[in-house]
Amino acid sequence: MSRVYNFSAGPSMLPVEVLEKAQKEMVEYGKAGMSVMEMSHRSKDYEEIIQGCESLVRELMHVPDNYKVMFLQGGGSSQFAMIPMNLGNKNKKCDIVITGQWAKKAAQEAERYITVNKIASSADKTFSYIPKLDKNTFSKDADYFYICLNNTIYGTKFNELPDTGDIPLVADISSCIMSEELDVSKFGLLFAGAQKNLGPAGVTLVIVREDLIGNAMDITPTMFNYQIHADNASLYNTPPTYGIYIIKLVLEWIKEQGGIKAVQAVNEKKAKILYDFLDSSDMFKGTVVPEDRSLMNVPFVTDDDDLNAKFIKEAKEAGFVNLKGHRSVGGMRASIYNAMPVEGVEKLVEFMKKFEAENK
Ligand SMILES: *Cc1c(COP(=O)(O)O)cnc(C)c1O
Repeated sequence: MSRVYNFSAGPSMLPVEVLEKAQKEMVEYGKAGMSVMEMSHRSKDYEEIIQGCESLVRELMHVPDNYKVMFLQGGGSSQFAMIPMNLGNKNKKCDIVITGQWAKKAAQEAERYITVNKIASSADKTFSYIPKLDKNTFSKDADYFYICLNNTIYGTKFNELPDTGDIPLVADISSCIMSEELDVSKFGLLFAGAQKNLGPAGVTLVIVREDLIGNAMDITPTMFNYQIHADNASLYNTPPTYGIYIIKLVLEWIKEQGGIKAVQAVNEKKAKILYDFLDSSDMFKGTVVPEDRSLMNVPFVTDDDDLNAKFIKEAKEAGFVNLKGHRSVGGMRASIYNAMPVEGVEKLVEFMKKFEAENK
């Protein structure tokens, strides 16, 4: 086998065990005599897949019973409109912290429907930190408070949640879902596009507290109404059937690893290996302040653009691919999601050490 170490930010690598299982079941699923791709979404076999997938989300994340779990389409980006349309229905107002491009996009979209109060921003230092928040600046009458928990592009993460009191906290967890334990009960709504840490592109997981849905704005398209999808257990229309099936396999894999707690321990180990090296290197350095560093996305640079380009090229030749930083930041970024083995990070660091010695 000649699989590379894929450090892509998304779509990103999946556990090889999952791909192999899918390969085995591709042509004939169980006793169905057909592929999951060919099944009716209303069939008994498929019902078991989608219900099993939901049960695993609930089990692994300890989702309380008063939350709905939905598998939707339209990417993480559709949530930027769905959230204000469904939750911004009382005072037509939300608070948001601007920690990067995904939060900015969410704010821009919400502004089309409701008043958006930008509480703080880290734009002044290229989003290399999470702004300190002052509770006194929060709106008393916001319908919800929005954050992007892990900032995929800039490599920052909220290590402390804002204390929003009774105001529901909404978080984009696209690039950190199931990477570490998270107390779902602290949130009104969580969402994640699948293609970073859960499965293939085309599915968005939404977890929402029941009392927050059912009051969507009149203009809300049927397909953008959480209530419709909640009432129909994500089967109002044809869901992304194959993608949900792969997510189920990924969740089974997480369970086999020992659950999210066990996966978190591995993620912490991987991140430490990489950050410790960046902190000790004379050539490479991390771009994020240590206290706000992401476990999943690790941006780093040298002080020379040509050297960055040389590194990315030689790393690729050595089997470490997709290390180029986001076009808005430059430099490099290693995304080390759940499926990246410790060995992949160890070997990357070995390669970086060698590159540093050769290019002094
Ligand atoms: C990738 C990403 C998105 C966008 O997801 P799409 O599925 O491409 O719309 C949103 N938020 C975060 C944090 C992301 O990493």
